[in-house]
Amino acid sequence: MDLYEYQARELLAEQDIPAPQAIYAQNSHEVAEAADRLGYPCVIKAQVKIGHRGQAGGVKIAHNRDEAILISESILPMTIHGHKVNGVLVAEAKNILHEYYVSISVDRTSRDFDVLATANGGTEVEEIAKEHPESVKRLHINALGDFDMEAARQMADQIGFYHADAEQAASILLKMWKCFKDNDATLVEINPLAKIGDPDDEASKSLCALDAKISLDGNAAFRHDGWKRFDDPMQSDDFERRAAEHGLHYVHLHGQVGVIGNGAGLVMSSLDAVWGAGKDQGTDVKPANFLDIGGGASAEVMRDSLSIVLSDPQVESVFINVYGGITSCEQVAKGILEAIDELGGSKPLVVRFDGNAAAQGLKILADAHNPNLHVEDTMEQAAWQAAKLAAAALTAKEA
Ligand code: GDP
Ligand code: MN
Repeated sequence: MDLYEYQARELLAEQDIPAPQAIYAQNSHEVAEAADRLGYPCVIKAQVKIGHRGQAGGVKIAHNRDEAILISESILPMTIHGHKVNGVLVAEAKNILHEYYVSISVDRTSRDFDVLATANGGTEVEEIAKEHPESVKRLHINALGDFDMEAARQMADQIGFYHADAEQAASILLKMWKCFKDNDATLVEINPLAKIGDPDDEASKSLCALDAKISLDGNAAFRHDGWKRFDDPMQSDDFERRAAEHGLHYVHLHGQVGVIGNGAGLVMSSLDAVWGAGKDQGTDVKPANFLDIGGGASAEVMRDSLSIVLSDPQVESVFINVYGGITSCEQVAKGILEAIDELGGSKPLVVRFDGNAAAQGLKILADAHNPNLHVEDTMEQAAWQAAKLAAAALTAKEA
């Protein structure tokens, strides 16, 4: 789960990581009020879950109230790289002397945590790495060990913080690590971590987080009640939200063939099969969703799944692909019939069962004598049939 900058800043603030004063605002009136309160100049920043906002015109400096209003009116309606702007952050402008980049992330290859840093911050790290690969330092925090002030000091030295900044950088690194660990984050990035102040006054200089990007590990949501405040109305899909409430792994894909299976790999293959079948038949039929009911799914899980998939008005047919391992096809069959009883409707369901209790499952379906229930032997045949039925339904609608 990615956070907006204004949300990421909250988590940095909990660790006392220095950052400019800032106020989140949703319309030009709120922006003007916020800017008046913070004083001028101030920075107005588009809130979108994507980088490169600066280059896209989403970060601008306002020198007075009129400018603040004009800038906010230009930024608020923007869509940046496909992301609609969700409000702006009005922040005190700081005098930047230097920009560093620092991030902590999960490194799946070395199975530990990566600290990535460079004294050439500002732009995206991928670009820095391309232009000045030697300047980007990658250091590791042991997944089983910990990180203390001594280790943070050594790291700050190796990263190449200028002498005067190293001690504060070490303290910020340690706080970033605490933020990362306490929040089950997969990424905590500060770019720029800026050296700010008056160039002629040594005492005024310090490091300050001018931008923050944080991603949280969705698998840890169960132990962070507070994360509900990060739910994003801009990005939440009704179907995905309902599926999440039922603990189902669902992704809305906006096609016409609902897909339900057990195991992410099998569901992905089913999506490919439906996609291919739709194309081969010369139609625009595509998968409507990804839905993995997981291992050992009960009749109830099957019923919840079908009820969500069938409530999608774009869905014309459903492909149910179950390979019974821990999951019993008999349970799945019961769930399908329960769902049909409960939901009614007349959309065709195409079922392919294999493995654990497949014969019993198929018998239950056959005994139901429901004309909307179709059974196929293989995944390819079932995908083909589901695509064909969806295409026929679409044609019938158009006629
Ligand atoms: P990003 O483009 O999405 O990474 O957005 P940032 O928040 O990092 O802002 C982009 C750039 O705007 C920064 O790298 C800075 O150069 C500049 N910027 C941001 N805040 C300030 C500020 O307070 N003062 C000044 N002078 N520049 C700023
Ligand atoms: Mn940035």
